[in-house]
Amino acid sequence: MNLNLKKYSFNTIFLSFIALLFSACSPQATFRIIEKPITWNETREQLSLQYLRERHGLDKEQATTSPQMVVVHWTAIDNIEVTFDVFDSPTLGGREDLTSASNLNVSSQFLIDRDGTIFRLLPDTTFARHTIGLNYCAIGIENVGGPEAPLTKAQLKANENLIRYLRKKYPLEYVIGHNEYQLFQETELWKEADPDYRTVKTDPGDSFIKKLRKNLSDLNLKPIPTSY
Ligand SMILES: [Zn+2]
Repeated sequence: MNLNLKKYSFNTIFLSFIALLFSACSPQATFRIIEKPITWNETREQLSLQYLRERHGLDKEQATTSPQMVVVHWTAIDNIEVTFDVFDSPTLGGREDLTSASNLNVSSQFLIDRDGTIFRLLPDTTFARHTIGLNYCAIGIENVGGPEAPLTKAQLKANENLIRYLRKKYPLEYVIGHNEYQLFQETELWKEADPDYRTVKTDPGDSFIKKLRKNLSDLNLKPIPTSY
């Protein structure tokens, strides 16, 4: 009896191992998210609550968001480890264009490497500072790349897979590029206290976001506003 049981469990483990090998080698890589959390401590939480209150006008007990859109970015840093280190600190260092608005460091919930590997830096609905006026309702996806290193096909596919996964969990209505965020200024979604606090953005590149939205057209997302 014992012997049979042992044999059964060995076979099960062996077969599971073979199945795993097959899935790892198949051309359609399995969708997965690697957890790689950045520091979330009392300082980051308090600065996030302050940002929600002072910039978005939302008095909350927890620094959480209600996702209605995804904002896609590029990091302008061509190295994932350096990007992680930049986002890891709860406080912002040096960027005077941003520190006057808040000392909360920038970050995003997701970071995608050039080979399409997806890392989750913060839980989906934890507050992250990545897009003026819209952080409170947006999930941020950063992609390693920039003007000198345009985003890759693997990143395009990974963004698509990740957004399909998120759309099943949250009532997402828009997928936008950071370069398009100012188009939302005249909409009900826009919440930013200072009419002069804006930064000009070109990420993640116009063609990348258009291709991504085209690939996601079956999700019937809302078209973005065309002017403001
Ligand atoms: Zn950006």
